[in-house]
Amino acid sequence: MPGGVNSPVRAFRAVGGEPVFIARGEGAWLVDADGNRYLDLVGAWGPLILGHAHPAVVDAVRRQAGLGTAYGAPTEQETELAELLVECVPSVEMVRLVNSGTEAAMSAVRLARAATGRDVLVKFAGGYHGHADGLLADAGSGVATLGIPGSPGVPAAVAALCATLPYNDVAAVEAFFVEHGGDVAAVIVEPVAGNMGVVPGTEAFLTALRHACTEHGAVLIFDEVITGFRLGLGGAQAVVGIAPDLTLLGKVIGGGLPMAAYGGRADLMAMVAPSGPVYQAGTLSGNPLAVAAGLATLRELMSAAPYPPLERAAARVEAVLAAAAPRVFVNRAGSMLTPFIQAGPVQDYASARRSDTEAYARLFHSLLEAGVYAPPSQFEAWFLSAAVGEPELGELEARIAAGLEQATNV
Ligand code: PMP
Repeated sequence: MPGGVNSPVRAFRAVGGEPVFIARGEGAWLVDADGNRYLDLVGAWGPLILGHAHPAVVDAVRRQAGLGTAYGAPTEQETELAELLVECVPSVEMVRLVNSGTEAAMSAVRLARAATGRDVLVKFAGGYHGHADGLLADAGSGVATLGIPGSPGVPAAVAALCATLPYNDVAAVEAFFVEHGGDVAAVIVEPVAGNMGVVPGTEAFLTALRHACTEHGAVLIFDEVITGFRLGLGGAQAVVGIAPDLTLLGKVIGGGLPMAAYGGRADLMAMVAPSGPVYQAGTLSGNPLAVAAGLATLRELMSAAPYPPLERAAARVEAVLAAAAPRVFVNRAGSMLTPFIQAGPVQDYASARRSDTEAYARLFHSLLEAGVYAPPSQFEAWFLSAAVGEPELGELEARIAAGLEQATNV
């Protein structure tokens, strides 16, 4: 496997050293192949809001496995899941299940282009929407750039259709739309960014995006692959009270199995095949095992009211980290947070990049040594899970404090 991994950031390249090989997960804990136990703040990069091997999810998957793992035909359960998504996420009237966030993003962009008859896509520096060609345009630039491919192998002609603007920069958005508004098919944005570390979108910024898209006939896509069912049942859009035209979901909705979705305005979604001409399909889409895990997870989230305790737990982790000030600046939204090793504030990719990544690497290794599994990169979100009860939280605070004390120069 390239780099020994199946997804790049797992290889620890940003922090150095050898990745930990995981043998199993138990609630708030990860256990490695050598039997070391870690309190897990990665949570599989977002899906595991209930923690590892939650009994309701395990039962649902077990039951479904005995009934068959794929049919390639409609099921009652996928309909039920779709209904739950429509019920919970304010702007979603119709939804299509897919297998990954990447697929959801590229499918939504195709739909937006079909609906508008335009080609230009606007994204934001530091935003990540999966690895499809058209969405990898340079994320490292702090200035609006048109057409810098983010990876070799992305055709220049494809990259040229994606404009990258600075996150949280209302003036840059307005200026871009004055010049190019008539060409814009879609604006795609993480309403709370999670892929440059956690950086909440300001209300002014998200409102400006809504206005610009409405005024210029462009499609506003909220990428809620991380924030959907993470910040609450309605995702970030319910928190800020702004309705996008299309929404991407992933991570939590699959309960740790491969699933994602795109959905939104019924008039747009009705353009997707077979009800409309915009082609998109998938052998394993709406896969019964993933649907079972997703349904069990969403039902638990709807009945257990986990968001207030999750928020309180994350605030306590934030407080322990911030106690190491002035070298640690924490951004937090609900149960996702990032300690940036710098004085802050961090409101966009340019400011996030000012962090001391070498100090982060030292902190990461000290935490690992203390039995805390944090993301192996400064530019990722830390996730709390509902499996972190009072005992685990006390243990987590103690271990983070120990790690902070051990880490030199943080
Ligand atoms: N959008 C966002 C906001 C993400 O964080 C990710 C993955 N971390 C994706 C899209 C892509 O999802 P996937 O890895 O399932 O393709």
